[in-house]
Amino acid sequence: MAQTRFTCTLTRADEPACQSYARVTITDSEGATARGCPQHAVAALNGITGAHVDWADSKGLNEWERTALELSEERSKLSALR
Ligand SMILES: [Zn+2]
Repeated sequence: MAQTRFTCTLTRADEPACQSYARVTITDSEGATARGCPQHAVAALNGITGAHVDWADSKGLNEWERTALELSEERSKLSALR
């Protein structure tokens, strides 16, 4: 499958390729960005310390997805402080 801006790249190594539309950009503490679907973005934020959502580059999120991402982002920030 061709890697595009809309391909979810946030799957873990043991997961099959994700067919969901990538609508979220996350940035890690080093400034590297990756795009993924909301579901995988939440999982990635939970797994990467200090990662955050690039909201300006994340479109088409519903209320629920936005809230889930905000919570994970908050948690990621807190674990970076420890
Ligand atoms: Zn995905």
